[in-house]
Amino acid sequence: MKGLLGLLALFVAVFGKETFEGHQVFRITAENEAQIHLLKQLSEAENLVLDFWMEPVHESLPVDVRVPLHSLQDVRAFLAYNKISYQVMISDVQNLLDEEQREMMRSRVIQPRSTDDYNYASYHTLNEIYSFMDMLVQENPDLVSKIVIGQSYEGRPLNVLKFSTGANRPGIWIDTGIHSREWVTQASGTWFAKKIVKDYKSDPALTGILDNFDIFLEIATNPDGFQFTHSSNRMWRKTRKPNTGSSCVGVDPNRNWDAGFGGTGSSNSPCSETYRGPKAHSEPEVKAIVDFVQSHGNFKAFVSIHSYSQMLLYPYGYTKTPCKDQAELHELAKKAITDLSSLYNTKYRYGSIINTIYQASGGTIDWTYDQGIKYSYTFELRDTGLYGFLLPAKQIIPTAEETWLALMAIMEHTKNNPY
Ligand SMILES: [Zn+2]
Repeated sequence: MKGLLGLLALFVAVFGKETFEGHQVFRITAENEAQIHLLKQLSEAENLVLDFWMEPVHESLPVDVRVPLHSLQDVRAFLAYNKISYQVMISDVQNLLDEEQREMMRSRVIQPRSTDDYNYASYHTLNEIYSFMDMLVQENPDLVSKIVIGQSYEGRPLNVLKFSTGANRPGIWIDTGIHSREWVTQASGTWFAKKIVKDYKSDPALTGILDNFDIFLEIATNPDGFQFTHSSNRMWRKTRKPNTGSSCVGVDPNRNWDAGFGGTGSSNSPCSETYRGPKAHSEPEVKAIVDFVQSHGNFKAFVSIHSYSQMLLYPYGYTKTPCKDQAELHELAKKAITDLSSLYNTKYRYGSIINTIYQASGGTIDWTYDQGIKYSYTFELRDTGLYGFLLPAKQIIPTAEETWLALMAIMEHTKNNPY
């Protein structure tokens, strides 16, 4: 089996993209702790090459898993034998990927000459997003600049858009795409950038925010991983740095921060999707943000955007001890998701990471909160699992629009509650 997988990897390396023909995504509903335990055992069967989109943690949460064609029979048999119920959410992953590609091809017929021509309702490659940033800066030199905060492992620039209307302002940070396969996040980040430019001086609320704060937006926070999702493996989540002593590549950049680093809810196995890395801040993509935040020294809000599952989360993920601002963060989260759902009635859950999803150590916003950035939040955007990471492009704009309302709630609150 290992030999076969090695051959497959070689084939992919030589001939290009990994295909997902016949792969299915199951939603498994565990009824009790014993079934969760069985699913955890299933997740450790390396020969099955399962990709858990939602990991088994507690019977109250569904488990989503992509099952390769060659493992379908075994997984079905395992679930049937143990009387664990499931449904097929995606019957052929490759069909969705083919549709996604066709849609991208259609949108490429027109090469955008300005950010007005850019197709926000389509997914884009890394280079297209880089060009978008350059166009936006060129068109709005008094408002937008591009800062390179570091380099990715493979040497790509870590670009951050800075929206600023005056010197020495406190900062608000937004990042998208730290997990590369969460494509709706980078697409939403691009839409946010244009929205900020459009709304400045026309929307009083956004204008008020920009009169008092600089907004920093990192759209492609994991550019190597993002490039890899386009060129080789659409399902790639981690960074692309090789791991010493392992053939598995990459670290989970949302387990790599120096906040409960190494604790429960992160893996020490380089082959795991939640591999924390050899030490805190080992990934250049993480270290660049750490250095930037510390040298800036005056961030007041920090929002890190993921997908999927429709949640708005605040610290902590690594400990059950409530953070000292829990009451305020909870109220603000409630206001933000109420605003969000006012547009398309999209329902969000909210709360601390550990109480709402599961214990996760070494996460971004636990670190930023412990640095003194009170308004630290993580979003999990659409959907709740019908398409998962493969959200159809026609949902990009509605997703970005509704999320913007929640971001505005957080930014306005930050403005109105100085600390
Ligand atoms: Zn994520």
